Amino acid sequence: MDRVRVVHTPLEIYSQLAHERSAGRTVGLVPTMGALHAGHLSLVKQAKKDCELAVATIFVNPTQFGPNEDFSKYPRTLERDLEQLDNAGCDYVFVPSSEQIYAPGHSTFIEPPSVASRWEGEIRPGHFRGVATVVLKLFMMVPAQVAFFGRKDYQQVAVIRAMVEDLNLPIRIEVCDTIRESDGLAMSSRNRYLSSTERARALGLWRALQGAQELVQQGERDVGKIELAMQQVLLAAPVDSIDYARVVDAQTMEPLQQIEEVAVAIIAARFGSTRLIDNLTLYRP
Ligand code: AMP
Repeated sequence: MDRVRVVHTPLEIYSQLAHERSAGRTVGLVPTMGALHAGHLSLVKQAKKDCELAVATIFVNPTQFGPNEDFSKYPRTLERDLEQLDNAGCDYVFVPSSEQIYAPGHSTFIEPPSVASRWEGEIRPGHFRGVATVVLKLFMMVPAQVAFFGRKDYQQVAVIRAMVEDLNLPIRIEVCDTIRESDGLAMSSRNRYLSSTERARALGLWRALQGAQELVQQGERDVGKIELAMQQVLLAAPVDSIDYARVVDAQTMEPLQQIEEVAVAIIAARFGSTRLIDNLTLYRP
């Protein structure tokens, strides 16, 4: 590894990048929780395209995990992550310790915007409070002009966009397409939890989303019918449980009755003990 600079403290990353910015360089930020795959690397590559410097962060943020979620077993593959970032042309990686982000006595949190209230926000109480808080903290520590996020986490993007607007944060949010395996399964750090039979069943997510898209393309407008079709595909996979399989407004993420110009199909479902999410934007022909 000869290129990427690995930084461990908030003071150091801030001062390095403040220096870069005063020399006129543009900085693109890619926040991650590590266990990197081609989806993450596509964000780094986009950052390199749009900005002179790409800065990735690797931090498994404890405050966005619920008490019964996978924080302690979340995959941690730092050496491999650094190699991949280096190969992708990343300039800096910020890898803080938990104590640096949440010092003893830390008690300030962001109250997430209203778009956080349904779906992931409802099923994972506190999740977006943790996400918004850590993302704002990263924005403060890493003085970037642009931050890159994946559409794979559709509601997360909506939450961050709203936070940036509501708090007048001086940063632009860029959203990158979901990178998929060749059969359509969205890449996710959690895919590695799947057994081979669960992996095969998990393709039901993509099939259900594609089915929804086909119905809309064929002229179906009734959201109830589209949601029923998605459920049937998931149950046939078979899925182990469905948290939601809905078609919602692409901006507000509120439920819809009829397909408007643009809507988004969102799914969260379990295969074995692994919970996966995916989504697809549906355009009226
Ligand atoms: P995570 O490490 O899961 O928190 O993800 C870090 C960033 O990578 C987030 O902005 C995600 O939306 C994005 N991301 C995760 N999976 C993908 C994917 N398959 N394609 C594109 N972006 C992704």
